[in-house]
Amino acid sequence: MAVPFVEDWDLVQTLGEGAYGEVQLAVNRRTEEAVAVKKVDTARALDCPENIKKEICINKMLSHPNIVRFYGHRREGSIQYLFLEYCSGGELFDRIEPDVGMPEVDAHRFFLQLIAGVEYLHSIGITHRDIKPENLLLDDRDNLKLSDFGLATVYRHNGRERLLNKMCGTLPYVAPELLRRKEFRAEPVDIWSCGIVLVAMLAGGLLNKVLIEGPKNRATISDIKKDRWFIYQFKRGVKRTRLSSGSPTDSQGPFTKQIHSNVDLSPASGLPWSEDQTRYSSSQPEPRVALSSWDSNHSSIDNLVQGISFSQPTCTDHMLVSSQLQSTPGSSQSSWQRLVKRMTRFFTKLNAEQSYLALKEVCEKLGYTWKKSCNNQVTISTMDRRNNKLIFKVNLIEMNEKILVDFRLSKGDGLEFKRHFVGIRCKLSDIIYSQKIPLPVT
Ligand code: ATP
Repeated sequence: MAVPFVEDWDLVQTLGEGAYGEVQLAVNRRTEEAVAVKKVDTARALDCPENIKKEICINKMLSHPNIVRFYGHRREGSIQYLFLEYCSGGELFDRIEPDVGMPEVDAHRFFLQLIAGVEYLHSIGITHRDIKPENLLLDDRDNLKLSDFGLATVYRHNGRERLLNKMCGTLPYVAPELLRRKEFRAEPVDIWSCGIVLVAMLAGGLLNKVLIEGPKNRATISDIKKDRWFIYQFKRGVKRTRLSSGSPTDSQGPFTKQIHSNVDLSPASGLPWSEDQTRYSSSQPEPRVALSSWDSNHSSIDNLVQGISFSQPTCTDHMLVSSQLQSTPGSSQSSWQRLVKRMTRFFTKLNAEQSYLALKEVCEKLGYTWKKSCNNQVTISTMDRRNNKLIFKVNLIEMNEKILVDFRLSKGDGLEFKRHFVGIRCKLSDIIYSQKIPLPVT
């Protein structure tokens, strides 16, 4: 897909994939700023143009340290580009070890940040409706950022709350009332998903009251904030964050079938607004940069959002091969430093060809479907434990004269992906460098 783009910006890496397009990392050659560019091909589904309008509209309403910042958007033909704060820490699921979780202190910090983000959303009458580790990204300081407002909607307006009736979200994270009732309140549904995320992070210990089936009895955010474990961890978090930077709010750190439909058809609800009203907002003059606090250092991002064009390399993942990066002005070491800090990767003791063959052999033995998609990239497909499709991509990247084998989830459940990665890594243990090779850090 040829992509018109802005002169000083290089698309250097695919960060992730969604239902209707990819998210790529764009780096400014001169200033070395990095932004995530979400490309959505609105021609891919009938409801896509309306859905993306709504996603943009909701993004424009948001401004919080635990929510991915929205810089703006532009359209080229059927492609919508959304320019977003780049989260170099990757997705939260990457930090969750299957069946183990993560250290409680980290889980607590992420949970506080998650609750801060959700509290903010609810305070402005917005529900996310698809909270899950794949939609919780981390920045370069491991601060959690809620992302992907493709299913979000307004449930409170002018102080009046409406009930929701659309089944949407990702099943393992979906509250029970959504599956059982015609109408349900928005806030407890998000809270349920936060509870499941917490369980996933802790893989055992949990705030039981977050997961009470009856929405009436389920903990609210103010209940959660009164919880002893929460307060205790909060205080510890304050100490920790003081040592690093910022305040707790600004620096705290699955069957996978998606029920993707983001229009709440509630004409009978007698509510004072409708989806049309949301669309109305999207036709308001569009702020080039959504946030007034955006400073003048980011004028180059302004240009990106406004749009001057240039074209995209045909296989952007190739741009990560060191020889190509070195020839890209302004994006050598600094670009490496901005690589997503994924855990799903390892260095091998072999050369590129041997590494490729070793990986292929293991994947074939494991019964995976193997497809070479670009020179250095393969697509691996399988079914997860719940019989849902799991697709991931593997890039072989030459780095410091060694081969880095880098795995990225393409479709399916994040934790299942981690489980399969661990299986492959185990089978390849003989060829993996056990000694830690430091990846560049920011
Ligand atoms: P879905 O089909 O799951 O709803 P989507 O089309 O809405 O996906 P996103 O979930 O927004 O797309 O993004 C897909 C992936 O791209 C994310 O899981 C993440 O890995 C990556 N990604 C998205 N936004 C960013 C960002 N701001 N910084 C870094 N990576 C990002």
